[in-house]
Amino acid sequence: MCGIVAYIGYRQAYPVIIKGLKRLEYRGYDSAGVALLNHGIKLYKKKGKVAALEEITIGKDLDGSIGIGHTRWATHGEPSDRNAHPHLSANGKLAMIHNGIIENYAALRHELIKKGYVFHSDTDTEVLLNFIEDIQKNNESTLEEALRIALKRIVGAYVIVLIDKDDPDTLIAARKGSPLVIGIGKGEHFLASDASPIIEYTKEVVYVNDYQIAIIKADELILKNLGNERQTPFIQKLDLELAAIEKGGYDHFMLKEIYEQPHTIYDCLRGRLDVSEGTITMSGIQNNIDLIKNANRILIIACGTSWHAGLIAEYVIEELCRIPVEVEYASEFRYRNPVVHKGDMIIAISQSGETADTLVAIERAKEQGAVILGIVNVVGSSIARISHAGAYTHAGPEIGVASTKAFTAQLTVLAMVALKIAKERETITNERYLHLINELNEVPEKVKQILDGADYIKDIAAKYKDVPNALYLGRGYNFPVALEGALKLKEISYIHAEGYPAAEMKHGPIALVDENLPVIFVATKDTYHEKIVSNIQEIKARKGKVIAVITEGDETIKGMADDIMPIPEADELIAPILSVIPLQLLSYYIGIAKEYDVDKPRNLAKSVTVE
Ligand code: GLU
Repeated sequence: MCGIVAYIGYRQAYPVIIKGLKRLEYRGYDSAGVALLNHGIKLYKKKGKVAALEEITIGKDLDGSIGIGHTRWATHGEPSDRNAHPHLSANGKLAMIHNGIIENYAALRHELIKKGYVFHSDTDTEVLLNFIEDIQKNNESTLEEALRIALKRIVGAYVIVLIDKDDPDTLIAARKGSPLVIGIGKGEHFLASDASPIIEYTKEVVYVNDYQIAIIKADELILKNLGNERQTPFIQKLDLELAAIEKGGYDHFMLKEIYEQPHTIYDCLRGRLDVSEGTITMSGIQNNIDLIKNANRILIIACGTSWHAGLIAEYVIEELCRIPVEVEYASEFRYRNPVVHKGDMIIAISQSGETADTLVAIERAKEQGAVILGIVNVVGSSIARISHAGAYTHAGPEIGVASTKAFTAQLTVLAMVALKIAKERETITNERYLHLINELNEVPEKVKQILDGADYIKDIAAKYKDVPNALYLGRGYNFPVALEGALKLKEISYIHAEGYPAAEMKHGPIALVDENLPVIFVATKDTYHEKIVSNIQEIKARKGKVIAVITEGDETIKGMADDIMPIPEADELIAPILSVIPLQLLSYYIGIAKEYDVDKPRNLAKSVTVE
């Protein structure tokens, strides 16, 4: 969600910024802009794609070795040229980009209007910028001092980067809540919302923390807190290759990421699962095992696809560990005054590790004494840093906005966490434990089998691409898979889809069933198989079209369904990692058949850094 790129050094800033903004396109945005500093500020911004911005800059003066660039995901004011960032302050001396929301912007705007300020956009960003300018003017202070004073009065979340016409050798940045990475080169610095615009130049990075201000020159980086005390930058080495963020011959990132799953699940298991020894090594969990295994209750906090991974984990953990589990939407949890006790364990799940609602929710729970276990994909992200313990999903960068490989990696990690806790609590027999370890170990190969034979899903997609609605049903471990399948279809093909527990269908959604409604059953062989067969009969009796994800060789459902998507046999606890794969492909191929931009679905953003 929103991208920030800035550069200071010896190169031309414009090409570095444009390339960086393109690398951040996957995050989702509606307009783009750039400001360059060289004998004054040159500003270019445009509604639409970065390519549209490039078009309006053809033939323009793009000279300058310091600059800031932005892709906006509108929160305050419609997507338009004038609301696009960067914004200029009233006296024209400062230009600023901003990711996040200034919650008290209305009061500040009112204050500034009374002082005679005129606004040229509807954004909260322009308000913050003029607020900074006003403080600087009134106090005759430096920009850095004015910024410090301003930030103490700001409520909300932000990353901001400023350039100042009167100080053409400096970039100033600050962060609270939204992500900011600084790449350190020789005689140059790169700023970005994540590491992808930086890796081709340098692997040395600093993750800026909340309430830090960075004063950046070509060859100097100073970090300070809001109390003006200097803080030592913690330099880390990026473990990321350029190839990981490029399409590598696939038409879309989403397809590449779906096909990467045998590999990403293997990476997630690698070094952790040892089948011959019958062990699971997860140091983050092991180091805190007493706290974790003695938890009175587990609360899983997440949003979107990660929330679905949490629902599956609820079933698995309760089954294996006999600890009560509740799954919460982070956005609800953070505002509803929940009861959290010392001794509760929170599992926070987030691909980006920057999901604003999840981040704040776990901060609240931490204050109330809960132990936080973070399951995130992006190394060094905010959730990873504030958790007591955690496990990375190691899925590599996920660029497609609709999550695929991060979801299956989350399920894999959560299964290992559950097995580890169960073993410690002695709530699982050794036989079952070893069986499940073996099952997990076979997942990458089984996913590969599904993907190798998946071409037929294109035909199913072609058959159903024009339906206005779809219903996804599943029971037990496969119920959250039905929710995830429906979410994928909505995200990628804009077809209205609902996920439901298959039995619950009789309490309402069955009214929708007629000969035009495709009902997608996640009906692999498990404890509920006979029950779901009856549910399929109920749909067929009402002339609904049935598409079923089944276990290979299931002749019963094959004989009833209009279309089938078989997967290899697997233990029911593990099967969701497999049964979601055909659903990901079905959404992808429907989206493609409808000629939609599957990597960047409308209105969606990748890492949701605003609430
Ligand atoms: N709140 C700001 C705006 O609406 C920034 C949005 C963003 O993060 O892109 O312009």
